[in-house]
Amino acid sequence: MAKYIFVTGGVTSSLGKGIIAASLAKLLQARGLKVTIQKFDPYINVDPGTLNPYEHGECYVTDDGAETDLDLGHYERFLNIPTSQANNVTTGRIYQTVINKEREGEYLGKTVQVVPHITDEIKRRMMLLGNSGKFDVVITELGGTVGDIESLPFVEAVRQIQWELPEEDCVVVHLTLIPYLKSAKELKTKPTQHSVRLLSEEGVHPNVIVCRTEHKLNSDLKKKIALFCNVKPEAVIEAIDANSIYEVPLKMLEEGLDVIVLKKLHYNGYSAPELNKWEDFLNKLGSPKNKVTIGLIGKYVELQDAYKSILEAFVHAGAINQCKVQIVNIHSEHLNSKNIEDKLKGLDGLLVAPGFGSRGVEGKIEAVKYARENKIPFFGICLGMQMAVIEFGRNVLGWSDAHSTEMDPTTTHPVIALMDEQKKVKNKGGTMRLGAYDCEIDEDSLAYQIYQNKEISERHRHRWEFNNKYLSDYVNAGLITSGINKAKGLVEIIELKDHPFFIGVQYHPELKSTVENPHPIFVNFVKAAKEYAAASQTVQSVGKNQTV
Ligand code: GLN
Repeated sequence: MAKYIFVTGGVTSSLGKGIIAASLAKLLQARGLKVTIQKFDPYINVDPGTLNPYEHGECYVTDDGAETDLDLGHYERFLNIPTSQANNVTTGRIYQTVINKEREGEYLGKTVQVVPHITDEIKRRMMLLGNSGKFDVVITELGGTVGDIESLPFVEAVRQIQWELPEEDCVVVHLTLIPYLKSAKELKTKPTQHSVRLLSEEGVHPNVIVCRTEHKLNSDLKKKIALFCNVKPEAVIEAIDANSIYEVPLKMLEEGLDVIVLKKLHYNGYSAPELNKWEDFLNKLGSPKNKVTIGLIGKYVELQDAYKSILEAFVHAGAINQCKVQIVNIHSEHLNSKNIEDKLKGLDGLLVAPGFGSRGVEGKIEAVKYARENKIPFFGICLGMQMAVIEFGRNVLGWSDAHSTEMDPTTTHPVIALMDEQKKVKNKGGTMRLGAYDCEIDEDSLAYQIYQNKEISERHRHRWEFNNKYLSDYVNAGLITSGINKAKGLVEIIELKDHPFFIGVQYHPELKSTVENPHPIFVNFVKAAKEYAAASQTVQSVGKNQTV
């Protein structure tokens, strides 16, 4: 029998419920428990796959091809175990299931209602991973903020589960904000009191209050929160702003969040937390010996969450290289052949980001050209790889209108084309080439040096692909296709001869980078950038000497 922890949020959104849930999970895992985390989101989209990154940040993809909330990325990066379709559920999916059942006649004669039919379906899904027998503890993060109209059925489901389960099998952790009023020079507890009252009115009584704060909470304040929120003072946990999200598990350990939860769940005799690898990572992260500057060329650069997994993969890769990776966001719409040098000079590596649609693609193609010609370390992901193929077609093979049919359906050189199985696809949600696919790597390649493995599996999310009609032209002109999906004959990795580090991948390696398993392409890209930076400094000092 698994035990259940629910994490709710109050006062405001963006308090970092996902990080608190992942940190608690990490600590329980470090004490020897088998833990998973799932996220229940109250919006009506069946999954976030159809949401614009400006709306909801990056869409995270699991091995089994689910398009999910970006918090699942945090869960995987912290726990180092894969999540799946079952780990992310939305109101849309719940209603879809209930409505399908209604059409199939399963509730024949009955009025289908929010309570009990919707709440029963929420409960069934909340218990699904726990019933699989694979986990000791299932942590469920509820999206949204307590008091939202759309989160009511979810809170009601938690209330029922809390009532149904033995007391020692369920914990509710409520994350709130303790704002600091500058004029009064005071931390304020009232919003927290109100949000706990709201939650209690909906029938759920939290066992632990985690307080996001910019200033330390003294014991009097903790006592006050405890008294008014009806928990013991040790169940009031301070979550002070951290320099890095990866410090949060250790801060929660200091505050005793895991111990209070373990006690409530009647876990006695739990072992001391084994966090050696985690601490080692943090030590490296905190003591960089070098610095590189990487240009992230994308069109959603205003919004950090749009490239969340890429940014985190750089944190992991930077730590292992003991190198601070400074990311410079470069808007691809603002790049053109005239300003490219100005905008990209001084960078030690260029990453051309994934994306959809034609906005900003010409700037991405210019950036690839600049990296290819100036031998700057280059890394193209998904659309970034496709842009590298187009650039090579235009500027090496001389096909000036080479393009992807996604952006130019009438091009005479469709070097990136829609996959056959995509041609008949009409619906948008969940219909791309999604999830993990095998790829075979050529031993004589940069990709093999990076992976040290002939067989890899990586996650995908795209509809277009390298057009094999042009394969021999490309190969004859010096493009290396070093990774192939044998089952479908799809080109998954491209490289260039005579370039220190140039790699484009049709998949999303950023989705598999974790603290304990930094992704090898990111690790080697940072290394190449480091070498590039060192070499360009030599050139500078040689130059100086010469002038002297
Ligand atoms: N738009 C491209 C495709 O669908 C690339 C997608 C991506 O970068 N994830 O093939």
